[in-house]
Amino acid sequence: MRVYLDHAATTPLDEEVLQKMMPYFTEKFGNTHSQHSYGKETAIAVDKARKQVADALNCSPNEIYFTGSGTESDNWAIKGAAFARRDKGKHIIVSAIEHHAIINSAKWLSNNGFDVTYLPVDKYGVIKLDELKKAIRPDTVLVSVMLANNEVGTIEPIKEVVEICHAKGILVHSDCVQAVGAVEIDLKDLGVDLASVSAHKFYGPKGVGALYIKNGIKIDKLIVGGGQERMQRGGTTNTPAIVGMGEAIEKAVREMQKNNAYIKELRDYFVKRVTEEIHYVTYNGHPTDRLPSNANFSFEFIEGEGILMLLDLGGVAVSSGSACSSGTLDPSHVLLAMGVDIVLAHGSLRFSFGKHNTKEEIDYTVDLLKKTVERLRKMSPLFTLKEGEIKNV
Ligand code: PLP
Repeated sequence: MRVYLDHAATTPLDEEVLQKMMPYFTEKFGNTHSQHSYGKETAIAVDKARKQVADALNCSPNEIYFTGSGTESDNWAIKGAAFARRDKGKHIIVSAIEHHAIINSAKWLSNNGFDVTYLPVDKYGVIKLDELKKAIRPDTVLVSVMLANNEVGTIEPIKEVVEICHAKGILVHSDCVQAVGAVEIDLKDLGVDLASVSAHKFYGPKGVGALYIKNGIKIDKLIVGGGQERMQRGGTTNTPAIVGMGEAIEKAVREMQKNNAYIKELRDYFVKRVTEEIHYVTYNGHPTDRLPSNANFSFEFIEGEGILMLLDLGGVAVSSGSACSSGTLDPSHVLLAMGVDIVLAHGSLRFSFGKHNTKEEIDYTVDLLKKTVERLRKMSPLFTLKEGEIKNV
């Protein structure tokens, strides 16, 4: 059996979405900026997709700018906003549990004359609003806090962040990449100035994202070139991907309630079985305010990488941290920021569920996980020591 439980890393492209994209790879290939009919038909398709994205997020189409990824949207938001406001101040605040697209953009800014404060979180991964108030300085120009965390799924109090920051004239960016199709996003209601999304997290194609820039907010360009995206982002428009993003977001929002109810039931069943049937496990993240698709566990005495590899041999795909950091063996910066002990953080795995998963797959995974954890613990000197302690009591 092959079981895919890594939907936070990426989702499979929806079949209906693919069909809508197909003509734009072949017969409808025109450059959206060409003056002739070939260009006009693709420009119309991109306009439709922009409206689909805007409707899904409750904003105006002219506030949506297509990009090449969630990572690009994050880089553009952070660097573009900081540089546009550098005459006002050079201090930015980002949460300590942001995706590396934000963390490394902030690091880049600190190497280029800006000051960065990393906002602490509590044991559930929720940012501390009183620490935000304390961190704000007269020269703070931007705050970035994600709507939902990609590793532990915790949902952040963005409206409160906006209230605190706007009272001081500070811009707010939110990385909403993990939240689309999982939680309702109403950008007008949230009140953020900038927001990032990425199509491949909601059954759309890879390599396309969008940045919401609220009307009236000016940020510097990241990619300069031709006059695409209303002069804000150069590069020939990726029409098939944008068409796919529009169709995927419309479908994700339309089916959100149904999919979430189904996915949450699978996730809750998985969590119940794991916590009841495996000893020495910790369920990381917020008990309730979290993405319905996410379950993150720490398994004591063993390494997450070891479990991951054995699960993979058994056909089950999971993640030992964010996909982007899995090239390294560093423990998750998210779990460390939540105060998880470094050894325990090494024993952590993220399971993220999707609309195609089944109960049979969950049962297969838990059975394999139980055997895997037992097998690795038998080889673990730490576990042998613990067993000895228990026997001697
Ligand atoms: N932000 C978050 C919270 C993510 O989870 C990801 C992807 O894992 C990204 C940004 C980057 O998006 P993309 O893969 O489209 O570059």
